Amino acid sequence: MKLGKYSIGVGDRFTYQGKAQLRAIMKANETGLNITPVWNKSNREHIYVGTVPVDTRKEADEAVKALNHTGAYFVDADHINLTTVSKYVEVSDFFTLDVASFIGKESSKEEVDAFVASCEKYLGELHIPGMEEPLHITKELLTKTAGKFLAATQHASEIYAYLKKEKGEGNFITEVSMDEVETPQTPVEMLFILKMLANKGVPAQTIAPKFTGRFNKGVDYVGDLAQFAKEFEEDVLVLDFAVKEFGLPEELKLSVHSGSDKFSIYPIMAEVIAKYDKGLHLKTAGTTWLEEVIGLAVAGGEGLDLAKKIYENSYNRQEELCAPYADVIDIDGTKLPTVEEVKGWSSEKYANTLRHIPGHADYNSNFRQLIHVAYKVAAEMGKEYTDLLVKYADVVGSCVEENIYDRHLKRLFAI
Ligand SMILES: [Zn+2]
Repeated sequence: MKLGKYSIGVGDRFTYQGKAQLRAIMKANETGLNITPVWNKSNREHIYVGTVPVDTRKEADEAVKALNHTGAYFVDADHINLTTVSKYVEVSDFFTLDVASFIGKESSKEEVDAFVASCEKYLGELHIPGMEEPLHITKELLTKTAGKFLAATQHASEIYAYLKKEKGEGNFITEVSMDEVETPQTPVEMLFILKMLANKGVPAQTIAPKFTGRFNKGVDYVGDLAQFAKEFEEDVLVLDFAVKEFGLPEELKLSVHSGSDKFSIYPIMAEVIAKYDKGLHLKTAGTTWLEEVIGLAVAGGEGLDLAKKIYENSYNRQEELCAPYADVIDIDGTKLPTVEEVKGWSSEKYANTLRHIPGHADYNSNFRQLIHVAYKVAAEMGKEYTDLLVKYADVVGSCVEENIYDRHLKRLFAI
């Protein structure tokens, strides 16, 4: 089973927008691209929203059938580990093995020594084709890197072994993720993480590192663009080297867990993958939930009323809603409009404040981040919320489609 060169992960909290998301991807594919859709949902999201893994499978199958999508598509059990994986086995065919919490966990001296010995031939100056400067590989560096990542890659191999037994070899896509940490992995670390995975027989098709900079939820990248560009390019070169040198699957590519809407780095990634003719997997998630709220606001009437109520509840429960996301949001409370102010807003004002159009006079990234983390509020509303998604399906669906196509795919694939 192969993921394909280009793929995009779309998340859908409430599972109503599968068709709209697929329409956007099919529209991009009409331009000659071949982007594989992947529906991703993490265990955390399922718990917050009250959905179960089979809901995502049904959503994907129904969308594909309704739209006559004939290419491949996948359902990603996003950010799972050995404790949470079992309930995804039957319905998923893409597994994101989240091993971030094992980074820095101790491995035995024998294991570390064995890893270092397996890298003997890379000691000294190591030239990675395409990189200007050679890497300087020492025993100390290898020992340190093993100390940091060996346990994490061991955990990946344990989840992989479990899945291989349950699903059979070759019947699923394997991604390894280490993105939910504070410290970015350097390209050199990436190189030896890949060596560890290869040594342990984990046939990763995608790997999701933590990149430099801030990937806040639903808003643009914050960080040094030149530094990101350098790191991203080096990672691409390292992956290419690792495939040839360590025997990893030739499909291996980077997976960018974007937190959605990292518009300023999309063209950088597009340029690098085009330069080296490489693939990419981009994961998005909350951007579709935000479009649902925008769509309700645009619909007016009950829709706009509910969008205002969602803000009111979010505003009043900021602390509770923001706490689990503290590391991935930057909300300036002084720039949030008051509930009273929002009550007086028109459809247009609400939508323009929430919609991510960089530079738009009404766009407010604080407002957007707060709503982003507040999907629990809508989940608690239950049918009150989802009934309106059905009632206003057309307007909401067109917001979702436009967002994925115009703001994401166009920038990412230079359409
Ligand atoms: Zn992630």
